[in-house]
Formats: sequence, C-alpha cells, structure tokens
Amino acid sequence: MTRREHGAGEEREERGKREGREVTDQLRELADAGVALSLPDRPSRCGACNGPVEDVAPDASTPAHAPDPAEQGVWRCVDCGQHFWKGSHWDRVARALADL
Ligand SMILES: [Zn+2]
Repeated sequence: MTRREHGAGEEREERGKREGREVTDQLRELADAGVALSLPDRPSRCGACNGPVEDVAPDASTPAHAPDPAEQGVWRCVDCGQHFWKGSHWDRVARALADL
C-alpha cells in the first residue's frame, strides 16, 4: 500500500464518522423536542417513491444484492419494485437511538 492510498482511506473513514455524528445529532434534536423515537418492525413506505411495501415470501427470489428472505425480513415496493431490509443503516440508527 502506498502512502497516498493510505491517506485516501483515512479521509473516507473521517467522512463516515462525520456523517454518523450528524445522524446522531439530528436524532438527539428530535428527542429533545419530545418526539418519541422508535424503529418500526418493518418499513411502511418505499424510501425511493413512497409507495406501499409488501412482505417478500421466504421462498421468493430476490436480487443478488438483497439478503435471503428466508433468513431475514425483506420487503418489496409495490410501485417501483425496490427491495428493503434491515441492513447496516438500520443497525446504525438503532444504536444511535439506544445511545441518546
Ligand atoms: Zn418504490
């Protein structure tokens, strides 16, 4: 690994930390404002088009980038077909909420 690549990696990591802090700050502001913060068991709306989402059957096929619906909950947008699941972002939000 060259010095230059090493530096670029550190920069990426820094940016990730900043974004994480911003999310936490936003959540804390909401909590201070008296908003009850909790994560739903499942998404109710598509994050891309706001359409309704439906459960993906455990034996249904999903795109390669999506997890196996037999192993964890996967949902699909009825309108645009986008798949959703509780991924790393979900875990990060859950941890941020727990830290408030
Ligand atoms: Zn959608």
